[in-house]
Formats: sequence, C-alpha cells, structure tokens
Amino acid sequence: MIIVDKYVYLFKDGNKDMASVLGGKGANLAEMMSLGLPVPNGFTVSTLACQKYYENNKTLPQDIIEEIYKTIENLEKETKKQFGNKNNPLLVSVRSGARVSMPGMMDTILNLGLNDDIAKSLLVKTKNKRFVYDSYRRLILMYADVVKGYERNMFERFLDDYKQKLNYQSDLDLDGDDMEFITKHFKEIYKSMAGDDFPSDPREQLINAIGAVFKSWNNERAIYYRKLNNIPSEWGTAVNVQEMVYGNIGTNSGTGVAFTRNPATGENKLFGEYLMNAQGEDVVAGIRTPENIDKLKTDMPLIYEEFSDIAKKLESHYKDMQDMEFTIENGKLYMLQTRSGKRTSKACVKIALDLYKEKMITKEDAIMRVEPERLEDLLHKSFRIEDLKEHTPITKGLAASPGAATGAIYFDAISAIKHHKDGEKVILVRLETSPEDIEGMHHAEGVLTVRGGMTSHAAVVARGMGVCCVSGCSDIIIDEESKCLKIGNITVREGEQLSLDGTTGNVYLGSITLEPPVISGDFKEFMQLVSSVKTMGVRANADNAHDAKMAYDFGAEGIGLCRTEHMFFEKERIFHFRQMILADTLEEREKALNYILPYQENDFLSLYKIMAGKPVVVRYLDPPLHEFLPKEESEITSLAKSLNKSTEDIIEKIASLKEFNPMMGHRGCRLLITYPEICVMQTKALIGAAIKAIGEGIKVTPEIMIPLVGSINEFTYLKDIVTKTADAMLKEANLKIKYLVGTMIEVPRATLIADEIAKHADFFSFGTNDLTQMTFGFSRDDAGKFLKDYYAKGILSSDPFKIIDEVGVGSLVKLAIDKGTSMNPFLSLGVCGEHGGDPKSVTFFNEIGLDYVSCSPYRVPIAALAAARSAIKSCDRK
Ligand code: PEP
Ligand code: MG
Repeated sequence: MIIVDKYVYLFKDGNKDMASVLGGKGANLAEMMSLGLPVPNGFTVSTLACQKYYENNKTLPQDIIEEIYKTIENLEKETKKQFGNKNNPLLVSVRSGARVSMPGMMDTILNLGLNDDIAKSLLVKTKNKRFVYDSYRRLILMYADVVKGYERNMFERFLDDYKQKLNYQSDLDLDGDDMEFITKHFKEIYKSMAGDDFPSDPREQLINAIGAVFKSWNNERAIYYRKLNNIPSEWGTAVNVQEMVYGNIGTNSGTGVAFTRNPATGENKLFGEYLMNAQGEDVVAGIRTPENIDKLKTDMPLIYEEFSDIAKKLESHYKDMQDMEFTIENGKLYMLQTRSGKRTSKACVKIALDLYKEKMITKEDAIMRVEPERLEDLLHKSFRIEDLKEHTPITKGLAASPGAATGAIYFDAISAIKHHKDGEKVILVRLETSPEDIEGMHHAEGVLTVRGGMTSHAAVVARGMGVCCVSGCSDIIIDEESKCLKIGNITVREGEQLSLDGTTGNVYLGSITLEPPVISGDFKEFMQLVSSVKTMGVRANADNAHDAKMAYDFGAEGIGLCRTEHMFFEKERIFHFRQMILADTLEEREKALNYILPYQENDFLSLYKIMAGKPVVVRYLDPPLHEFLPKEESEITSLAKSLNKSTEDIIEKIASLKEFNPMMGHRGCRLLITYPEICVMQTKALIGAAIKAIGEGIKVTPEIMIPLVGSINEFTYLKDIVTKTADAMLKEANLKIKYLVGTMIEVPRATLIADEIAKHADFFSFGTNDLTQMTFGFSRDDAGKFLKDYYAKGILSSDPFKIIDEVGVGSLVKLAIDKGTSMNPFLSLGVCGEHGGDPKSVTFFNEIGLDYVSCSPYRVPIAALAAARSAIKSCDRK
C-alpha cells in the first residue's frame, strides 16, 4: 500500500502494483517475497524520495535519512545480522530501479558495509581471502566511481600493471594475497583523490550510495535513454538496498540469468545461462563462457528443480514470460530479479498465442500483448543480425517502405529491369520516382530516392508492392553523367552494391545477408484470433494479380482501392494509352481506348477471380496525364515515329499538358469530365469483367469509385455516364447485376457537402493522402523536405501523411460521416489513404465508426491487429 510521507518500504511491505513508487525491480522483489520465494531481504527507497532529493538541491532530506536508518534496524531484525557489526555483518547492494526498466543506464554499488575490521572477521568466517578482498576492492572502485565521480582508469591502470608485472592473463589468476594487496592500493588511490580515507562507516557509505544512485537518474546516458523511450524525467528512480548474496564464494556457488521461454523463438522451455563461482558482472563481462541452463540439471539437480519450479510459478503469477536473475550461494538459491522479458516479434506472437492456449490469459489479453508494428518484422525480409553488426550506415533517409534489400544500384528503370532479367539483384536509385518507374520498381529489391516524403509516389507504390524503399535521402547527390552517387566523400558507381533498410531508413555500403519472412503457423493462428475480435473490415490497396493474391493470403477482406492507372503502364498498353492522350480527335481517342479495353477487362477479371467473391473497389483514372508521357528526347522521337506524327507536335502537346501544380490540376474526375470516353471505357471493362466472372460462378458486385470529387455536379455527371453504360451492357447481356457507384472523399469541399453527395453515392472512401495534402496545403511529394524542421521545433509531432491528423483532417472525416449518414444511413464508409495501414490512425477510424480501412497488402495484418485492439479497448470502456 502506498502511504503519503512514507519514503522507504521493506520488501515485505510492497507488491507488484507499486512500480510507480518502488520502481519495477523493487515492486517485483516485493512481489516475489510475498509469494514466499527465496529473495534476499531488503528495502526500497522510493521514487518519491528521489523527487525529494532533487527538490532538496541533490541531497537526501534529513527525515528520509532517519527513515532509512529506521528501516535498516528492521532489516537487521529480519536478517539477524547487523550493519557495521564485525562479528555478524550485514552487507548490502544498492541498485537503481525505475518504473520501467532502463537497463544499464544508472549506477549500482555492491558489497556495501565492508571496512578493514569487517573484512578481517569475514576472512575468519569464510576462510576465503580471495573472495573477501575481491569484494572489498570492487566496493572501493564502485564507490569512487559512483559516489565520488572519480575516473576509474587510475584504479584500472594499477590493476593492469600489477597483472602484467606478474604475467597474469586475467583476473582469475589473482589469488587472495593479490586481492588484499590491490585493496590496500585502491584505498591509497582513493585517498590521493579524495584527500580523505575511504569511509569505514557503513551508514555513511550507504547514505552516500543512495544519493549517488538518485543522481545517476540524470546522467547523460539515462537522459538519452529516457528521450528515446519517452520516459518522463519527473518519474525519478527508486533505490533497492538488498542483503548481498554471493555467487563467487566457492564452487558450490554461482549466478545466472534465465527466461521462462525462449525470447528468440518463443519456445516454451527454460532458456538461459549461468556461471559457477562467479558474480553477475562476470557473466556480463564475458571473461568466461557461461553454461547453458540445461547443464544445471546435472550440476545441481535440486537447485535446477527448485529454480524451474520458481520460473513456472512466476510465469503463471505474472501471466507472462519472465526474465529472471538468480544467485546460488553455498548451495542455496536466491532470486534477485524478475520482470517481463524482452522478446523478438516472432516470440511475442508465439508466447501470446501459447499463453492463451494454455488458458493463462484470455483471447483479448493475447491480442493486447502484441503491438501491431511488431508484425512488420514478420512480413518482410530482414538483415541477418550478425552480418548487420559488421556494417555502419553511410546515410539515412525516410523509412518509406519496410524490409531490407541489398543489390547493385542502377539509376533508371530500364537498366534496373535489364540487369534484373540478367539475374542480378538490383536497387533502383532515382531522384524521385514517377509512374514510369513502376516496372523498374517491381524488378528491384529496393528503391532509394533523393526526394519525396512518406506518401510520395515511390513510398506509396513501394509499400503497395512490398518493396523496400528509403525515400527523401537528401544527403545523396546523383551524378547522372558519370552514373554514380555521392554521399560526402563516398562514391558508389552504377553496378556497385548498396543495402537499404526500409524499416529504419538506413543505407549501407556493400551487400548484407538477408533472411526471408517466415509466416509461421503461429502467426496464422494468431491472426485468426484477431479476426474473431475485430469489428472493422480490413481491405487492401491492390491493382494487379500479384498484389491481390498477397493481400488475399494476408487476410484482406477485399480490395478497397484498385488504382486503375497502374494498369496502363505495362508494355503493350502504354503505347495505346499515350496514343489516347496525344490524340487530336475523339475518334482517335476512342480507337486507342478500344485497344486498352480488353486488357483492362482481363485485369479486372483476374482480380475478381483472386478475391473470390470479396468486394473489389475500382477507382477510375486519377493522375494527371503528363505522368504517362515520356521525358527523354529519344523516347519522344520514337513515340512520334510510331504515332506517325512529328516530334515537334508531340513536344508541343507534352508542353501543353504541363501544369504548375499538377496535384491540384487536371486529374481525377476532372479528367473524366474532359474525356468522358475514358469513363465509358473503364465502365465497359469493369462490367464486362463482372459479367464474365458471374459466368464463372463468382459472386460479384462491381464497386465503381470516382476520384477527387469536390462538387455534386462532378459526381452526378460521371455517375450518369457510368449507369447509362453499365445498364446498356447489362440489358444487352440480359443480366441483372447490382453495382455500386461511390466516390472518394479527398477534397476538403467534399466533406462539407457530404450530405448532398450521399444522396447520390452508394459509398464513400476517404482518400486521406489527398485530403491531408489539401487540408494542410502541404504538397505530399515535397513536404518531407521541411516537415523535419516542424518536428525539430515541436510544431508538429508526427508526419500527418503517416499518422492521421485527428484534430484537423480527422474532424473533416467525422463531419463527412455525420453528414453522409444523415442523408443515407446505408452509406458504406472506408478509408484508402496510406493512413489505413497505420495502427494509430486505424484506432481512430475504428472509433469514429468507419466500416473498413484499406491499406497496402503488407500492412493488412497490422491494420487488422490495430482494429482488433481498438475494438477491445472500446468494449473495455463500455
Ligand atoms: C488518397 O488520396 O488518399 C488516395 C488513396 O488516392 P491516391 O493516393 O491515389 O491519390
Ligand atoms: Mg487521391
């Protein structure tokens, strides 16, 4: 129980729920003690005392010192030993322990309570000179370092010189006399630095040590760690004062670390290591190779049995995999720590699932144990850890599409494709990508761009394809002529190896070994749990058979966005598409479109087949036309030739399509209004595919989505074309097929007139990429350049193209939902912007009542898990 004005708690007075006051370590020591486990006795000086220490000008207030002294008396009664009593001395460790674990960030002092007299009497008692003076010299060094802040190297140098003089290889060669000699010299070094003798009063040692650990809360590495992990600096640390137990007192003693399950694989088997006749430090220092915990079974069968019983007890008590520290002192086992163990993503999923199957936790608990982003590690290739350690990043860009890639660099799509076809693994490096690069991106292991943000073309397309991408890597200078890139004084030429980590944004020189994603049975089973809990649908953004298949395999409940423009880029079609764009008459345009029609119909049919009756939302042509035209002079000339036109005519036409602001220009429904024949062709292709699919026994309800609608007449004009075309086809086929015509809501004005639009639309799909772009007025392709200044200056805390801006863009979405459903309660509501795959945004979309999110195939499981977690949280709130 937490008591106001109480700053010091004996372990027996605390419990696991008191981590805010006792720190994680203190709370768990108290809990282990209350479970009757063998924990060395002790007490915790609370985090509140730490706060008081800072308020009191970094000194412990007298009332807290008095409380510590009082608690020592109680501890003496508990342990039947006395602090400072040479006949029966109590020696303690002083360790930090914040509310959340901050491994190695703060300071520790061991063997406190030793002085010359106590060392002598301990020697009589233990008859182990090496142990006694090893402990004493360690105390002097730790005290000098932690309490006094003296450099350790004076001590370390003396020790090294001493060992060298005697030709010793390691500390293990030092015997009892050596340790006594070293202790004597350490005291001299201490005196030469402090001007005073090393304090022989254990109470003085203790109070100074507690203050020093509090002070270490604000050392540089702790501050850095807190920043990285969002740990508030006001929390402070607690300090645990605990009776020392020794694993280095003889061959019947030892120390170790173990997990209740394998933290790498999740396997339900004790996993860990130990060292006999050693202290914790020795295990960490790696001087000796620790033994596998399994060997303890033969070394000390009774201890092993006791330990594995305790491990089971702790795991079922905490209902989670535990990471434990233990010490064996003269054949007796002591538990020094337990906490929830860190684990890989694979283990995280397996452990959550297994704990559920073992009936230790509920299905909902299991789902809440896995953070959605964790699944990302299971869905992409990654670098082999050992190999990665050998490499240092040469630069860093935006982590635009996760995964890892290694390959030879090429600076244009054509070269990338050619070399890939020759069997080489390639990385496509571009200043920025455009739809023209799609095929090249498909053939590349990874994409690296100098420009572009998280929703730039490269990022969106790469994520959709599951290709690793680092974008906006502005340190890179591309030298097109010499076909090389430069980063500072490093030059990488075409064909040389580079490695990209799309999960961190790091770029490495040379190649790094990759490991494939493993979609294990556990992962699949876990996703079944997720599906059974979530209420919001998860669809995928996919526009080709490969992506659709992947989306289906990853559990997508349909396609929420098929960007039809991507279908025009394939070899046979791009020529006719360009012919259509460059046509001078309607007749020419229709002729070109007629060539494309069967291809597009086939594409739609293959999507219907793959999705096997699940919904497929097809969005009509969206990007500005100039994106489809060639840029290189040679390509323009050859296009002119094949079109039987003059190069000048084509150049003029391309120039006439140039816009200052293409993202706000002639695109989306605006294009279809200028060229209704495109809308007719796409409708014919889609309805034609639906008729064929139905003929093959597939249930299909075509969903047609008009992009970039901002006014009601835009929508009704195009809907009229769609329905006339579709109805005529169905009449001719003598078929009654239900089809839906809906719109993207991605222009702010559409949100304001959503009620009007809903009178005519069957569904809304929020295009939050464009909606964010137009609401903020930030170009989605360029904003990355200056947004980093916004983060640095606290103007924005995150990328609004990645995590939905709930206050602004989110309010517009809510407004459109309210207005839309007030007019049409059956309106289906989805989101297909990149935010549909971001867990925080998915939570928001679930809370405001969207029917589904749609995201890139690779993010489907992540979005599904986020949706399930949000459903659980909403249930808990009710
Ligand atoms: C959007 O704007 O959110 C969207 C999905 O469309 P696109 O990214 O193709 O513009
Ligand atoms: Mg859009």
